[in-house]
Amino acid sequence: MADLPDTLLNGYRNFMNNHFAHETARYRELADIGQTPQTLVIACCDSRAAPEIIFDTAPGEIFVLRNVANLMPPYTPDGEYHAASAALEFAVQSLKVKHIVVLGHGRCGGIKAALSPDHAPLSPGDFIGKWMSILAPAAENVIANTLMTDSERHTALERISIRYSIQNLRTFPCVDILEKKGRISLHGAWFDISTGELWVMDKETGDFKRPDIDDPFVIPAPAAGQSAS
Ligand SMILES: [Zn+2]
Repeated sequence: MADLPDTLLNGYRNFMNNHFAHETARYRELADIGQTPQTLVIACCDSRAAPEIIFDTAPGEIFVLRNVANLMPPYTPDGEYHAASAALEFAVQSLKVKHIVVLGHGRCGGIKAALSPDHAPLSPGDFIGKWMSILAPAAENVIANTLMTDSERHTALERISIRYSIQNLRTFPCVDILEKKGRISLHGAWFDISTGELWVMDKETGDFKRPDIDDPFVIPAPAAGQSAS
């Protein structure tokens, strides 16, 4: 008997009956000729911010690296285990992606941990504390700003972390060389879970702005007298 939670088995049944049934030829082609995604997305593990859903992508369209708080560590060829760097290496050198998107999101638990570095670790290994220490130089500056509110600090560090990861991407020689040749471009975006808004980083200024899209979905306002709960 298959041993998976019922919700996953039911979801898989729906996937086969709907998604796979409509995309059978595409999956077969992808199996035969291999994947050729044009974009690497570096996203958070958070279950509410899945890039395939947010960007409504087809199978084979984006290569996705997910880790706590969508961080890219700096280039450190020290012979240790570097999962993020391995995924980047494959995407850039083998798949030859043309775009790398660092996708942050609101209410990020990893960023919350980075803003409270003195909290007790979740386990003796303190893997989250160690991982989030990548962002420590930026987090320290945000924590020290006593004129900001907690929520301002949180959103600010979520967006700073995106710029920080892009800065670290450029420490990898392959990315640096290809970007200077115009063969790869780096992008930042931030997703607001509660509203569905996507904010895209301006390459020149680093500011985050709402993109111009032709037919934006507008959340309907509640009818008069109707509870907004
Ligand atoms: Zn997150």
